[in-house]
Amino acid sequence: MHQAKTKASAEALLALDRAHAWHPYGSISAQQPLFPVRSASGCRIKLADGRELVDGMASWWSAIHGYNHPALNAAIGEQLTDMAHVMFGGLTHEPAARLCATLAALTPTGLDRVFLSDSGSVSVEVAIKMALQFQQARGKPEKHRLLALRGGYHGDTLGAMSVCDPVTGMHQLFANTLPQQLFAEKPRCRFGQPATDADMANITNLIKQHHHEMAAVIIEPIVQGAGGMYFYSADYLAKLHAVCQQYDVLLIADEVATGFGRTGKLFACEHAGISPDILCLGKALTGGMMTLAATLCTDIIARTICDHAPGAFMHGPTFMGNPLACATALCSIELLLQSDWPANIQRIAQQLQQGLAPAADIVGVADVRTLGAIGVIELEQPVDMMQWQPALVDAGVWVRPFGKLVYVMPPYIISNDELDRLCHAMVSVTRQQLEQR
Ligand SMILES: *Cc1c(COP(=O)(O)O)cnc(C)c1O
Repeated sequence: MHQAKTKASAEALLALDRAHAWHPYGSISAQQPLFPVRSASGCRIKLADGRELVDGMASWWSAIHGYNHPALNAAIGEQLTDMAHVMFGGLTHEPAARLCATLAALTPTGLDRVFLSDSGSVSVEVAIKMALQFQQARGKPEKHRLLALRGGYHGDTLGAMSVCDPVTGMHQLFANTLPQQLFAEKPRCRFGQPATDADMANITNLIKQHHHEMAAVIIEPIVQGAGGMYFYSADYLAKLHAVCQQYDVLLIADEVATGFGRTGKLFACEHAGISPDILCLGKALTGGMMTLAATLCTDIIARTICDHAPGAFMHGPTFMGNPLACATALCSIELLLQSDWPANIQRIAQQLQQGLAPAADIVGVADVRTLGAIGVIELEQPVDMMQWQPALVDAGVWVRPFGKLVYVMPPYIISNDELDRLCHAMVSVTRQQLEQR
């Protein structure tokens, strides 16, 4: 009886969804497989049909402490008894003020001013506006363009889209609307390798040629995420930072995906020992509980903007500094810092490396790579989601491939057994899918 009722309600839910909801990058015509979730706890996602999946996605890099964590739940509950939200214009409160101070202290030196917003894309918009307003304030309005890397991803809003990869991004579709930015080749030197003069030549030349019209360079440090799950040289990043300084161009580090330990350092910039001028944070900021993002900048940038007309930074989201989100972020950061997270990321890194290695021998696999708590199987051809997604679910894991990439970045609390299941499922489904063709 209970089974039947559950099944019917899952079907009803699917029907409602199919009738009215839109999903990320979704088509309402070509329907993709869709799995109703009943609940999620720890590193497990429980489907409405009773199946339990080991989670390899951390809900797009964010749920680093897993789901339904008692401390995070309690942090929201406690804040709720004070207030869910008040406007941040003219008012302040402990969660926001403490969070800004905490982020300033944790991030690379010099990033002392924090602008809170609602999502990673908005944190990138804010970063771009900071760079532009800074250049205007110091009397260099001609420095208004950005330079980004091919293969990058910075979000889905218009400004952020303009700096995403020009081929895989949405430039063609919105070409008449998007600002025309500059693009450097994707770094060829991989993580762990030095960056030679040849590796630096393209981006250095672009900066040399265009610095007079360039406000900032924006990059994802070390890991290009949604644009290709690609890991590049820390030496490249360090050298790029030096070139930016030499030519009076700001460096914006988009750590929306890499922030909070994912790559083995608290922030990926630390691999190169650099402090960017502007830093974007999001995704794991609240441990995947609430939507919140932050853009940090140096004191010089903040003061220059505010000491010139119009005398303020021109941005102000309605839900800025949402107390529930800020209290949750403080709790998530405390949970992370209390744990021996470097050793834990190391543990996950080793298991991913060992567990995914057998995939390298499968015909049709182009590359297998890992860095920190990120594991990637890159294929020669894009996956067919109609086939792959159900096969992965049948194998007991929640892994969501895109394009040629079958990848995971699991919650940090994942056990060795669960990691084993995850890697085993990824390799066996890859083998099964590629050998079928
Ligand atoms: C996900 C992501 C964004 C966009 O964040 P949203 O919260 O989806 O708006 C921006 N930059 C990077 C590097 C990301 O991975």
